[in-house]
Amino acid sequence: MAAQDFDLFVIGGGSGGVRAARVAAAHGAKVGLAEEYRMGGTCVIRGCVPKKLMVYASRFPHDFADAAGFGWTVDGARFDWDAMKSARDGEIARLERVYRSLLDGSGVTVFDERASLAGPQCVQLEGTDRTISARTVLVAVGAHPTLEPPIEGGALAITSNEVFELTRLPERILVVGGGYIAVEFAGVFDGLGSRTTLLHRGEKLLRGFDEDMRDALEDAYRVRGIDLRLGTTLHRIERRGGALAATLADGQVLEVDEVLVATGRRPNTRRLGLEGVGVMPDMVGAIPVDRYSRTAAPWLYAVGDVTNRANLTPIAIREGHAFADTVFGGKPTSVDHSLIPTAVFSTPEIGTVGLSEEGARRAHGEDVLVFKASFRPMRATLSGREERTVMKIVVQASTDRVLGVHVLGHDAGEIIQMAGIALTVGATKADFDRTVAVHPTASEELVTLRTPFVAKRPVVAM
Ligand code: FAD
Ligand code: NDP
Repeated sequence: MAAQDFDLFVIGGGSGGVRAARVAAAHGAKVGLAEEYRMGGTCVIRGCVPKKLMVYASRFPHDFADAAGFGWTVDGARFDWDAMKSARDGEIARLERVYRSLLDGSGVTVFDERASLAGPQCVQLEGTDRTISARTVLVAVGAHPTLEPPIEGGALAITSNEVFELTRLPERILVVGGGYIAVEFAGVFDGLGSRTTLLHRGEKLLRGFDEDMRDALEDAYRVRGIDLRLGTTLHRIERRGGALAATLADGQVLEVDEVLVATGRRPNTRRLGLEGVGVMPDMVGAIPVDRYSRTAAPWLYAVGDVTNRANLTPIAIREGHAFADTVFGGKPTSVDHSLIPTAVFSTPEIGTVGLSEEGARRAHGEDVLVFKASFRPMRATLSGREERTVMKIVVQASTDRVLGVHVLGHDAGEIIQMAGIALTVGATKADFDRTVAVHPTASEELVTLRTPFVAKRPVVAM
C-alpha cells in the first residue's frame, strides 16, 4: 500500500480533537488537523470559557449590594459592556494562541480550513481543494445550536453563538429553554441588569437533575426577579420598531430587545461525507461509536459532542486522549461515562455528581437513604440577602455507598469536584462521616449530616 500523508488526520480543533492530536503526536504519530473556524473549539471560543467570564461579571452587582451589610459603601458602580466584552475577547484570543502553539510544539500540521471525508482513509480539504490520505481519521467536529421545530420569525432570535457577539447589553431579554445554557444565560443577563424572562416548555427547569435542586433553583430565580414562564412555548417572533415582539403559545406577547434560543444542540455531521464511507449518523445526527470511539469503518473514529455521549468538555478531552492511547499508544483505553461530576453556572450554582434521589429510587427502590440540609449561608446573615444553600447526599442503605451528591449555592462547582473524588473511589456515608469538618464553611454540612430525611419526619439512623 502507498504511504499515507499522515498516520492520523483530525477533523476539528476543539477540546477532543486537539487533545487527541497532541497525544497521538507524543506517541510518535505524524498528525494533521483541520479547523474551519477558530482553534480551541466551542469551549474556548464560544462556550465554557467566555460564558464563565460573563458569569463572573454578572455576580458583582450582588457583591456590591451585599457589601453594605459588612459596613461598606460602594458608590457609583457602573457596568460597561464594551469593557467586559473587550477584556473577555482578549482572553479568548490569548487562549486560542495557546492552543495553536501547543499543537505547533507537538509537531501537528494545522490546516485552517473545512475538511470532510472523501473516501476510505481520505480527507478533502475544502478551502484549498486538496485531498489528503491518512491511516486513521478522527472526527471531532462538535455540535451546533438548533431551533427546532422552526418557528415564524425564528431568524430574529440569537443562539449561544451570537450571544458572545452582542454589541450592547439588552435592556430586556427573553431566554428560551430549560437546560444548562438557558439557565446559565438567564442568570448572566439578570445579574448584569437586563429585565430577563426565562421561558421553558416543561413545568420545571433542568430536566434530569435532582428535584430538590430544580425546586431550589426555581425559587432562587424567582427571588432574584427573573420572570419565569414555565409550561409554555414560543410561537412567533416579529420585529416591532426597534424591538422584538415574542408571541407565546397562549397568545401573550412579550416585547423584548433580544430572544436567546437555547433549546439544545445537534452534532455537526451534515456534509461530512460519512454516508459515502458507510457510516450512518443516528436520529439526532450523532456518529455511533464503540467504547474505544471506533465507528463502523475500522479506520474512522469519533470523539466529543459529535458522538452525543456526554456533551461536556472534560469528556471530549478524555475521549480524545483515550482514543490516542488506544490507537497510537498501544494501550486500549475506554472512558467511563457512568459517574460525571458537573456544574450549572447559574447564580446560585448547582453542582451534582452521581444519582439524583429519583434516579436512585428507580435503581434501588426502597434501599435508599437521603440526607439533606437547606440553610441560609453565613454571608447572607449580614448581607441580608434572601438566599438558601441546599446540600443533599443520596445513599444506598444496604451498602452505605454514596450514590449521589447535590449542592446548590456558592461555589457548588468547586465543592462537587471534590465530592466527585469521593464517589469515584466508592466512598460510603461512613467515610463522609469520619471526615473532619472544615469550619466554618458551607460544605462542612456534607460531613455532618447524620439524620436521614423522611418527608416531614426525621428518623435516627441505625
Ligand atoms: P468542539 O469543541 O465544538 O470542537 C469542534 C471543532 O470542530 C470546532 O472548532 C469547529 O469549528 C470544528 N469543525 C466543525 N466541523 C468542521 C469541519 N468539517 N472541518 C474542520 N473543522 C470543523 N462544557 C463543560 O464541560 N462546561 C461548561 O461550562 C460548558 N459550557 C458551555 C457553554 C456553552 C454556551 C456551550 C455551547 C457549550 C458548553 N459546554 C460546556 C460544552 C462544551 O463546550 C463541549 O462539550 C465541548 O466543546 C465539546 O468538544 P468537542 O471537541 O467535541 O467539540
Ligand atoms: P440541553 O439539552 O441541556 O437543554 C435543552 C433545553 O431545551 C431543554 O430544557 C429542553 O427541554 C429544551 N428543548 C429542547 N427542544 C425544545 C423545543 N423544540 N422547544 C422548546 N424547548 C426545547 O441543551 P443546551 O443547549 O442547554 O446545552 C447543550 C449541552 O451543552 C448541555 O446538555 C451540556 O451537555 C453542555 N453544556 C454544559 C454546560 C456546563 O457544563 N455548565 C453549560 C452549557 C452547556 P426538555 O427538558 O423538555 O427536553
